Amino acid sequence: MSEEGAKLYDEVKEKVETLKDEKSIHRKFADIWRLACIGKYRSFDLRYLYDDTSREYVEKYKPAMIEAKEKFLENIEDYVDQCLNVMEKTNKFKVYYAKTNEEAQEAFMKELGDNKVIYKSKSLEAKDAGIIDALKENNIEIKETDLGDVLCQLLEYESPSFTLGPGIQFTEEEIVAKIKERYGVELEPKAEKIVKYYRENYRPELLNDVKVSLTSANAISAHDGSIVLIENEGNISVLTRATDKHIVVAGISKIVPDEFDALMVAKLQERITNVDAGYISIISSPSSTSDIQGTRVFGMYGAKEVVVILVDDWRTEAAKENLFYKDMLKCISCKSCDFVCTASRAFGNIYASKYGIGGINIVRDYIHNGIEEAVKDGLFLCTGCENCTNWCPAGVDLAEMIKNLKKIATEKGLCPPTLKKYQEKIIEDKNPFK
Ligand code: SF4
Ligand code: SF4
Repeated sequence: MSEEGAKLYDEVKEKVETLKDEKSIHRKFADIWRLACIGKYRSFDLRYLYDDTSREYVEKYKPAMIEAKEKFLENIEDYVDQCLNVMEKTNKFKVYYAKTNEEAQEAFMKELGDNKVIYKSKSLEAKDAGIIDALKENNIEIKETDLGDVLCQLLEYESPSFTLGPGIQFTEEEIVAKIKERYGVELEPKAEKIVKYYRENYRPELLNDVKVSLTSANAISAHDGSIVLIENEGNISVLTRATDKHIVVAGISKIVPDEFDALMVAKLQERITNVDAGYISIISSPSSTSDIQGTRVFGMYGAKEVVVILVDDWRTEAAKENLFYKDMLKCISCKSCDFVCTASRAFGNIYASKYGIGGINIVRDYIHNGIEEAVKDGLFLCTGCENCTNWCPAGVDLAEMIKNLKKIATEKGLCPPTLKKYQEKIIEDKNPFK
């Protein structure tokens, strides 16, 4: 094992050791992880709202979704061209095709102009493309709007979080104590009171003050250029309407052949995670009216401008060169593979990258930052159980991608010493257990 490999392994080992300390953030998070899973399974009661269970729903539509994703991958360049064209010509969006992350950052900063504040939600791809880092470097104030993310900002929590409930690790007492310290307001430590506080104090700002907002997209239709977004709080509906300029940053892999496929992706994402997503937005143009003598004027009550930055970076290459992480292009970012992941359940936010918890975000880190980062993220904590692959609604073989990463790491001398020893015992002693 190389010296560098030993150092990376020590970093992971150190974090794993902290799980013994009841006060450590990682331990807390591992506990929270169990709670989050309980929360999810309790929410299975939602199935009574439908005729079938969520899993049956997913199984029913899974083949159609995989087919739609594969169709896109087989003709990636044509679908991207079709999408760019219809977005620009018919939908009147301002569209950028960013070949690289750097081009995406440049386009975003150009569109931001002199604005010093951005309101955002659902923007994993802006993080992937380095846009969030660029905003920070340029001292742009980033205002989260999803309550969980708002709480993470309030409590200055920056480590990887439970994506489906980013603030779930905070108790009501911790939240109200921080609100008192920051805003001098005393609240009863109850979820309803905290929500009421934000509704009364933050909602007016979102309705009146947003000039530029940022979201991603759950899916995009190549056929009519519609952007589909699903949510539960209503913050995305507000951000996409009560703003002058709505900027969408999305990887080209969010494109599916048509608007029905896009809706299917959004619904499947909702049902596989069993969250009660009450709103779906389908955005096909900026706000406009033609009520005065048929003259179309943009910017009636909703966004005056919709800007779409479609990021390619590694995606076309992965599809065309059949790279081992090509399956990432099918991922719908439902994050539900974490629920069944042995490593995520045991190690919470230690098995994670800066993009989020779980194996899928470790692959993401590898694509953007290389194998050393993936090892640091806890790559070798993966048990190879393959639960992720069996669970995935989009047919992503995450276990195979992780196996490939381990191979790359091992070839570079980055495999943990314990595994190296195990290998030696098999080869030399013909007995791994001695
Ligand atoms: S790999 Fe599959 S289960 Fe995991 S986030 Fe992507 S689509 Fe969801
Ligand atoms: S194989 Fe998949 S589910 Fe199992 S530990 Fe590894 S990433 Fe998690």
